[in-house]
Amino acid sequence: MKHRASTRTTTRRTLGLLVITAAVAGIVHQTSVFSVGEVLRGDHRLTTAEKGGSLPGQVTVFDDQYPGVANLEPELLKALRQAATDAADDGVRFYVNSGWRSPEYQRKLLRDAVAKYGSEKEAARWVATPETSPHVSGNAVDIGRSDATAWLSENGARYGLCQIYANEPWHYELRPQAITDGCPPMYPDPSHDPRMRR
Ligand SMILES: [Zn+2]
Repeated sequence: MKHRASTRTTTRRTLGLLVITAAVAGIVHQTSVFSVGEVLRGDHRLTTAEKGGSLPGQVTVFDDQYPGVANLEPELLKALRQAATDAADDGVRFYVNSGWRSPEYQRKLLRDAVAKYGSEKEAARWVATPETSPHVSGNAVDIGRSDATAWLSENGARYGLCQIYANEPWHYELRPQAITDGCPPMYPDPSHDPRMRR
């Protein structure tokens, strides 16, 4: 009897060890789906929408774990970061409401705009196509909040950062010549921009 009891205990212990081993193996296996770099950057936590350029709230120009920020043209991003660093001295923080967008994301925004404004013509005053949007090419950024756009309106030209459309005080693009010549005149809205007529 005594011998059997001890056998049962040993079996139970072995089973327990097996369960623990399996659990550890499971965790290790799950972790190995992501590279160390991905885990450090937090890439695996990005949603499908974020991978296409959608951004959650309160993303700054320094948050390059988001493709919407990281995929901006390097010169634009550099100018934005310089400006944001100087604006911080004035107590102003730049938030990126939208930056780089995948063609699919841009298409979705255009569909939403057509539904909202009732026609393609009216939607074109606000949202470009995937073929023409400077957001898709990584050359445009929509900045918030109003204290940031007010700061940029005053100081952006020094960094080559210019508002392009009169109806979009948040939309900025890089115009390097602005550093010496000031920003070019604005278009009333995107439908007046020759780049949109392709
Ligand atoms: Zn924009």
